[in-house]
Amino acid sequence: MLNNIPDIISNQKAFFNTQKTKDVSFRINVLKKLKQAIISREKDIFEALHNDFKKPSFEAFLSENGLVIAEINLAIKHLKSWSKPERVKSSVLLFPSKDYIYKSPYGTVLIIGPWNYPFQLAINPLIMAIAAGNTVVLKPSELTPNTSQLVADIVKDIFPKEMATVVQGSVDVSTELLKQHWDYIFFTGSVSVGKIVAQAAAKHLTPVTLELGGKSPCIIDDTTNLNLTAKRLVWGKFFNGGQTCIAPDYLIVKTSIKNDLIDALKNEILKAYGDAKNSEDYPRIINRKNFTRLTQLLKGVTIAFGGDYNEEELYLAPTLIDEPPLDSEVMKDEIFGPILPILSYETEDDITSIIQHFDRPLSLYVFSKNKRFVENTIEKFSFGGGAINDTLIHYGNANLPFGGIGASGIGAYHGKFGFDTFTHNKAIVKRGNWVDPPFRYAPYSTSNLRLIKTMFKWFS
Ligand code: NAD
Repeated sequence: MLNNIPDIISNQKAFFNTQKTKDVSFRINVLKKLKQAIISREKDIFEALHNDFKKPSFEAFLSENGLVIAEINLAIKHLKSWSKPERVKSSVLLFPSKDYIYKSPYGTVLIIGPWNYPFQLAINPLIMAIAAGNTVVLKPSELTPNTSQLVADIVKDIFPKEMATVVQGSVDVSTELLKQHWDYIFFTGSVSVGKIVAQAAAKHLTPVTLELGGKSPCIIDDTTNLNLTAKRLVWGKFFNGGQTCIAPDYLIVKTSIKNDLIDALKNEILKAYGDAKNSEDYPRIINRKNFTRLTQLLKGVTIAFGGDYNEEELYLAPTLIDEPPLDSEVMKDEIFGPILPILSYETEDDITSIIQHFDRPLSLYVFSKNKRFVENTIEKFSFGGGAINDTLIHYGNANLPFGGIGASGIGAYHGKFGFDTFTHNKAIVKRGNWVDPPFRYAPYSTSNLRLIKTMFKWFS
């Protein structure tokens, strides 16, 4: 496989140069076929995700193929208008002219996907890269072999390989791919690998989108409805077994309600999963390495609920940790598993010092009925995006850009933002010839300088 990589890319570049992907109807047709393939293989998708980490079908639909179908529908519906040259207001200084933004694909795109939503996070960027007229090499995660194979099969069935192809493999394949000269790289994964990707891209000055992670805080004040808050927190934290980049990583709760919130959380965990070990609705940890990493985090902290595990089954119970110190292992890096630390605060300064202890997070959540507190929090902190009085749901609205800031990522996508990500905006001024104001040409004169200064004052 490694030896084939340069050929795959040069074939894609040659295909791109045929201009075939510039044909919008061609793109729409292929997206329609992709949609049909995904709909007809729904059962296979559910089965692959279940085999990879016991993901329940309900969660699979909601967060994988359901979201993907919605993204394809949006692209099919709007592609003609998104891809048309956009007329913009001309500058009087350029009179006479008509000015446009032409939507131009970058060329050959590399997409590297993670394992935690292995179908959606591979196919969603592919949809908008193709919609924008690029060719794509997609490398899904090696940690979900069943789903990644299915992604490869679907892509092979639908696309000519010069237009889109899947290259499977782990770090060695990824490393080889990153050595090549791409026109765009779209990466979803960890902060540490994101830095490797950025370095590789810099060698060829390749533009990148980096969809990374981080410790996403969730603030809960004492005005909130505790039972509803607990229900939404349990859903958002333990969905996908807590292996979600935008899961609330830890809570910051007003001290006076902390114990009541912990009781409400326990109650909601039991209502959702009963004995989670036997629940069909509770996924497993992806592999032994992550399982060991997560169980190590439970050492030396106060477990308020859960904490039991079974290595054979890669099962780790929904777990609540009470007041871990900021320098404890569980508070060092993104948890990325079903462990929820609960910290308390007295003043807004306490919240600030906790949040600013970490890099800028991918998401931030607030549960509160206090509008001033909510608005202050949104304005005060720097983070990718988030929700008020809920968790995760901002991800599902394609009218909102999804992406991080600082260490949690560079760039954004979803819906039109995804199309824009994979599109170069080519600025074109079409100049008229019927009149040619002479003052910009040499020899320059003082009166023309005065005239141009006046024009800048009036028209710019
Ligand atoms: P990862 O960074 O380990 O792997 C992601 C991809 O990079 C995989 O395809 C892998 O094969 C490849 N890779 C791994 N090591 C590499 C290396 N040294 N050089 C080149 N490529 C390499 O991430 P993961 O474990 O698959 O996913 C978990 C992380 O992804 C979490 O940090 C999570 O927050 C983040 N994530 C972010 C988003 C988002 O949309 N922002 C979504 C899902 C996951």
